[in-house]
Amino acid sequence: MRKSMLLTAVAALALCVGPAAAQTRTTLDVYTIDVEGGNATLFVTPSGESLLIDTGNYGPEVSVRDAGRIMEAVRDARLTQLDHVIITHWHGDHFGGLGELAKQIPIKHYIDHGPNQQPDPRADEFLAKVYPGLIAKAKHTVAKVGDKIDMKDIDVQVVTSNGDTLMTPLPGAGQPNPYCATFKDGPTNIEDPLSVGVHITFGKFRTMHLGDIPKGKEFQLMCPVNRIGTLDVFLGLHHAVNTSTSEVMMHAVRPRVAIVNNGTRKGAQPDVMQVIFSSPGLENLWQIHFSQLSGQEYTVPGMFIANHTDAEMAAMPVAPIAAPAPGPNTPPPPAHNGKAYWIKLSARPDGSFTVINARNGFTKEYAAR
Ligand SMILES: [Zn+2]
Ligand SMILES: [Zn+2]
Repeated sequence: MRKSMLLTAVAALALCVGPAAAQTRTTLDVYTIDVEGGNATLFVTPSGESLLIDTGNYGPEVSVRDAGRIMEAVRDARLTQLDHVIITHWHGDHFGGLGELAKQIPIKHYIDHGPNQQPDPRADEFLAKVYPGLIAKAKHTVAKVGDKIDMKDIDVQVVTSNGDTLMTPLPGAGQPNPYCATFKDGPTNIEDPLSVGVHITFGKFRTMHLGDIPKGKEFQLMCPVNRIGTLDVFLGLHHAVNTSTSEVMMHAVRPRVAIVNNGTRKGAQPDVMQVIFSSPGLENLWQIHFSQLSGQEYTVPGMFIANHTDAEMAAMPVAPIAAPAPGPNTPPPPAHNGKAYWIKLSARPDGSFTVINARNGFTKEYAAR
């Protein structure tokens, strides 16, 4: 008697927990995953559809490390497959973990800008030996500006790809961009300008990820008119490397929050940090890492920074630490191969959102406007 009552209670509980757990997600969740100055950004919709932008770094150990970090987020989001994976461009810090990741979870759809254009033995080897086998078992799309990635709860529009940028403004956008008059172009390489960039809306919430799009393409996208409009959250920002994030881009889209995927000694230099901090309407910048290139002077409070290094510095100096000259004898950046933390954004259709630093639990609510 007692046993059957207990069983009935357990069965009732299971009924409650089962469907309820499946329905609990009402937010668009975005995990900015620490891949050491590379990119891996995972979107999970309320109905459980997923989009991963990039897969971390290339190399015998770092591919395994970064794929493992992506899988931690995948498990946290209770995903059993990745519905869409965008490789923004063929740099090792973006496609690098893909081969390892694909061994660990089914990937249904690959999206890229087309063939690699920048000679690089690592990318060429990957594209010759690994990628064809992956896309043979899945859907494969070469993204074109204006394409939409078919997802139920969110609108995902390609705004840059293979050097092309959106020419027809998004709904409500198209106003003259006052920052065009003072634009100064900067250097770039061959692959960054080819990045697949997407603009995403979820109800009233608006965000964007442009891969490593450099200043010249920002100008092409944003001048003479602002074809994007305004954003709630600007994601990635090319690791806050100073070949991107000009005022024509950052100041014109006026994000309330920026979440940058910088490294321990990659990005977040003083010049780009000044552009970010002076962006009109910016409430907070969240960083995936402390960067030596910022020092204390140009960084945010530690509450907003998700990761330290394996060997902790006694103190971050006030002044930025200059990057060593590039060359064969350059010391490696401070390592972080241990436990890594993500920054998780949860957005609601009314435009409100929450950001959580997984390292310290620090959470901030941003009310709908
Ligand atoms: Zn990059
Ligand atoms: Zn790290």
